[in-house]
Amino acid sequence: MKNLKTTITIAKGDGIGPEIMDATLKILYAAGAQIETEEIEVGEKVYLSGNTSGISKASWDVIRKNKIFLKAPITTPQGGGYKSLNVTTRKFLGLYANVRPCVSLYPFVETKHPKMDIVIVRENEEDLYAGIEHQQTDEVVQCLKLISRPGCEKIIRYAFEYAKQQNRKKVTCFTKDNIMKQTDGLFHQVFDEIAKEYPDIENEHWIIDIGAAKMADTPEAFDVIVMPNLYGDVLSDVAAQIAGSVGLAGSANIGEECAMFEAIHGSAPRRAGQNVANPSGLLQGAILMLNHIGQTEIAEKINNAWLKTIEDGIHTYDIYKEGKSKQKVSTSEFADAVIERLNQRPVQLKEANFSGNNYTMQLKPYQRKSPARKKLLGVDLFLHWSGLNPDELGEQLQSVGYDDKQLSMITNRGIKVWPEGFRETFCTDHWRCRFKANSDFTQEDIIKLMQKAREKGFDVIKTENLYEFDGKPAFSLGQGQ
Ligand code: NAD
Repeated sequence: MKNLKTTITIAKGDGIGPEIMDATLKILYAAGAQIETEEIEVGEKVYLSGNTSGISKASWDVIRKNKIFLKAPITTPQGGGYKSLNVTTRKFLGLYANVRPCVSLYPFVETKHPKMDIVIVRENEEDLYAGIEHQQTDEVVQCLKLISRPGCEKIIRYAFEYAKQQNRKKVTCFTKDNIMKQTDGLFHQVFDEIAKEYPDIENEHWIIDIGAAKMADTPEAFDVIVMPNLYGDVLSDVAAQIAGSVGLAGSANIGEECAMFEAIHGSAPRRAGQNVANPSGLLQGAILMLNHIGQTEIAEKINNAWLKTIEDGIHTYDIYKEGKSKQKVSTSEFADAVIERLNQRPVQLKEANFSGNNYTMQLKPYQRKSPARKKLLGVDLFLHWSGLNPDELGEQLQSVGYDDKQLSMITNRGIKVWPEGFRETFCTDHWRCRFKANSDFTQEDIIKLMQKAREKGFDVIKTENLYEFDGKPAFSLGQGQ
């Protein structure tokens, strides 16, 4: 007979990881989950054995073979040199969507937001997490924020498909495109384009600062929220915390081939080995996993038993409240309490209803557009220059220009300081010097300008080409320009 069980890779991780993984698996098996597990070792032991990635080649092979990975939290050792395994896994396996439901369990778990029920969909592969950082001058370091059209399309389409599948009514986008017009601007633009394909789902965009404030104050105003990586990282923790506790939330990291499921919290080393940790976060991750592999009935059964356990006041220390909770339990006792309730449903809390849903998503594959008309208009030469007076720099650099390839502007940390800067503007040793032409500008002009700058003794630390795409200038102006 064909084996209908899905083999999943598991990693028990560090700290409280093994305890919450054992509790979670015990519940899954008791509920009849059709899974087999293959265990790998990742995390602290692997790091400390001298492998700075925290995972061996053999473990990667297992993860890629089974495609579904349930991971307990791991400890990243303090000190430089150790790469975050979470970030590496997400990027290596192309897990572009991080999905984190944050639902209030009021009145059984304290929260100021009894009606909260939101899902954060966070872009998981790019943005500032490309991890491309450089020191450029004595005083200035930089981190590249990379946002791509395929990255935006994939995550935004995922958010709308998720909303459709889960019968959610609205998708909100958070960006800071009033400041970052190119990067966050692209995310917002793609959101508007894709929203049009889903006329039955409401859509809106908020500037992230006021959006975040609104979410922290009135989360019930939101449903699904999609955002770039860094904002999503921060706000998904805020959302989990204001729903009740970071200890209660799980997340899914979804890719085209593989998927990883986890609790959102860390390995809580101080609680390790005491059998006190709350296994709910990892259990929620496992419920997302069961839905993902089509075992929706089991997922529903477990979630309802879990809700009933919480409702019955059976709480681990982190959510236990004297007078409100009924019994303070250990990790394993909590798991047993969920197992005892496997055929029960919550009375007050909203029942889970997953059965019959098809959770497998067929997303339209990304289609590269035909290339735009791209024209070079000039170049920004970035200099390490220790002088203080921008007028002096402007004067010296004017002799670097030739023909109509002339210096048009100097900025310092983005603000225009030449021509006609303000005496009050504070300047570092990092200067962006923009050369443009009235006529054609070529790659050879860039090399010639760099060469001339070198001959005058300038330290050119990098260049950025200034392009227009399809007739539209595609670079930021200087602030104050
Ligand atoms: P943490 O989430 O481990 O702990 C923060 C606080 O929450 C602690 O006070 C802890 O007692 C409590 N807590 C967390 N999970 C709990 C649970 N299930 N039940 C009860 N209480 C719980 O965060 P941290 O202390 O900043 O990080 C510890 C380690 O975890 C670090 O090495 C960090 O790198 C790692 N980490 C791993 C992941 C992951 O693997 N996904 C995520 C975050 C942090």
